[in-house]
Amino acid sequence: MNADELPTLRDELEAHGLWANKGLGQHFLLDLNITRRIARSAGAIAGKPVLEIGPGPGGLTRALLEAGADPLIVIEKDPRFVPMLEPLSEWSGGKLQIVQGDALQVDEAALVDGQRASVVSNLPYNVGTPLLVKWLKAGPWRGDMTLMFQKEVAQRIVAKPGSDAYGRLAVLAQARCEARLEFTVPARAFTPPPKIASAIVRLTDRADPYPHLDALERITAAAFGQRRKMLRAALRSLLPEPEPLLHAADIAPTARAEEIDQAGFRRLADAWLTAKA
Ligand code: SAM
Repeated sequence: MNADELPTLRDELEAHGLWANKGLGQHFLLDLNITRRIARSAGAIAGKPVLEIGPGPGGLTRALLEAGADPLIVIEKDPRFVPMLEPLSEWSGGKLQIVQGDALQVDEAALVDGQRASVVSNLPYNVGTPLLVKWLKAGPWRGDMTLMFQKEVAQRIVAKPGSDAYGRLAVLAQARCEARLEFTVPARAFTPPPKIASAIVRLTDRADPYPHLDALERITAAAFGQRRKMLRAALRSLLPEPEPLLHAADIAPTARAEEIDQAGFRRLADAWLTAKA
């Protein structure tokens, strides 16, 4: 299958009279060289189920079909794009399944029929983080994720302790996944160009995923909510007397959130769950 035989995305957009709706975070990748590179970052997807969120005009969709995704299930909120995607379904011999709806609301496990699926997406900026958190908490249907974020968000996902970018998102993402920044894409590569660059992050399941993500969310919200404060003060938004909790987690009460590594946050969440029980 070679997507070069298809009409160009630009011509297709014009033929369907479609334009970007910024309210839906629409910034399109019309260059197949870039979408093919994203598809390659997703690893060996030939013959495997893939979920793509926000296909829009279908540039990444074309590259994923070329790479052999089967089935490729796409979820697009904007109904205007469905008629533009339908011919791709035919071109793919039925491998492409189009779902019109809000990715925040869909039940992915039902869509992929319980099979494990890779998630690949050039995410809409306004819902990228909530979607990531939803998938981090997802059940066994969720496989590797290859996701485009604003560069600054991508840096926050892969950040390590001690850096300015280290915060809630790094702790939550890395509790479940190994997170690696693959490559950056300049703003000019998009139509229309956003204000800032984007980057692809690859998230693969870690061998020892932390199970209590909700507890970790509460702990990190308090700890990083006042990131310049010592934890004995910052955690007061979670409980009135944080010192015994810090002691149980073997963390100095004078430490600050940005110094605490993944293992430290796991101990804190465990200690909080024990204290609450
Ligand atoms: N994948 C296309 C590309 O790379 O050119 C479009 C990417 S654009 C950044 C984001 C897409 O997500 C848009 O098509 C937008 O309509 C869609 N979208 C926005 N919010 C959504 C949601 N909640 N659920 C599903 N799709 C959504």
